[in-house]
Amino acid sequence: MNNNSIPFLMELNENQIIIRNTVRDFCEKTIRPVYMQFDESQEFPMEIMQQLGELGFMGILFPEQYGGAGLGYVEYALIVEELARIDPSISLSVAAHNGLCTNHIYQFANEAQRKKYVHDLATGKKIGAWGLTESSSGSDAASMKSTAQKVGDKYILNGSKNFITHGGVGETAVVMAITDKDKGKKGISAFILEKGMKGFIVGKKENKLGMRASETVQLTFESCEVPAENLLGNEGEGFIQAMKILEGGRISIAALSVGLAQGCLDACIKYSKERKQFGKSLSEFQATQFKLAKMATEIDAARLLTYKAAVLKDQGKPNTKEAAMAKLFASEIAEKCASEAVQIFGGYGYIKEYPVEKFYRDVKLLTIGEGTSEIQRIVIARDFLK
Ligand SMILES: Cc1cc2nc3c(=O)[nH]c(=O)nc-3n(C[C@H](O)[C@H](O)[C@H](O)COP(=O)(O)OP(=O)(O)OC[C@H]3O[C@@H](n4cnc5c(N)ncnc54)[C@H](O)[C@@H]3O)c2cc1C
Repeated sequence: MNNNSIPFLMELNENQIIIRNTVRDFCEKTIRPVYMQFDESQEFPMEIMQQLGELGFMGILFPEQYGGAGLGYVEYALIVEELARIDPSISLSVAAHNGLCTNHIYQFANEAQRKKYVHDLATGKKIGAWGLTESSSGSDAASMKSTAQKVGDKYILNGSKNFITHGGVGETAVVMAITDKDKGKKGISAFILEKGMKGFIVGKKENKLGMRASETVQLTFESCEVPAENLLGNEGEGFIQAMKILEGGRISIAALSVGLAQGCLDACIKYSKERKQFGKSLSEFQATQFKLAKMATEIDAARLLTYKAAVLKDQGKPNTKEAAMAKLFASEIAEKCASEAVQIFGGYGYIKEYPVEKFYRDVKLLTIGEGTSEIQRIVIARDFLK
């Protein structure tokens, strides 16, 4: 196993500290007071997303000439992590908008497509969706059934997509469909779709366990007419493009997991000092201290893996295995932290007035979305067995 990388320590620079503090401040003032309302109603927090756009957080990774903030994956991870400490649901929406839809267009579009689509997405004027998953193809994404047939100067799309984040509120979507079924993975292409295109039908909105403010919707394409100029790259490149996009996406889900786990720890430290039983605060019991120490240690390890992957990505170095390791480890420790947090809160952990109840529901998505834990293990093993 080739391992030229060693664990490293990293100091945030002045700009990164300003960014982190800006997100923290925004979360406290704008998100904390309202996030439970959005969770209860499953309403998409459009106004908050627009405010995040004004701060540059809807176009984190894209150059300023396209309306973006011109930042890298370290800053992206910092922003997603900080948002998730307060509301993982808004954090997920920011990650999906930046890392999936907008990044797919930015990475693989020609100049005309970039000019037409990236600016509105990067400024938060429009929300982006990204459609790979179908009802019969999840982890095995290449077994999709949606088709795109070229007819004159259009592609005619037929099929459907499942679990699409921002499928309803999104005005721009990147969708993968088969252009040549004989070529397997190499017969899949990617297209930019716009809301309102003939045959682009927004279906059922899912009623979810967690991440409830982040809209999840089914999409259907019934002879949907997409201009041929909306093909991203060349025919047959869509699947490999999607896999590259998911590689970056894993870093953001890892960061989201770290943030969620940190949110759990923060809440537990505060609560365990306040809550008294047997004449002592919970934090005085060694059993509680051991739980907190384990959480803190695992969060630090997850953070190191996450920022290692982000640094490698920013340096343009291979990071497939590192991003998968970060996503796998961080999402699994976040799950453990959320469960332990409810335990530390006792009965109050089960009640919606206390923050860990929501963390406990939100966290489950993280070992599933953008590649399940099982798929991350396959990606990691494949890397050193090749
Ligand atoms: C809230 C939410 C938001 C989402 N947003 C989007 C989005 O915006 N765009 C999009 O395209 N998709 C999205 N998804 C879909 C998500 O990426 C898939 O749910 C995920 O990839 C898993 O696919 P699946 O649900 O079909 O599960 P399946 O693939 O059916 O897997 C079921 C189980 O089998 C296991 N499994 C499958 N194959 C193997 C194998 N080879 N070896 C071992 N175990 C295996 C899995 O790990 C899992 O435990 C979203 C999902 C959710 C819930």
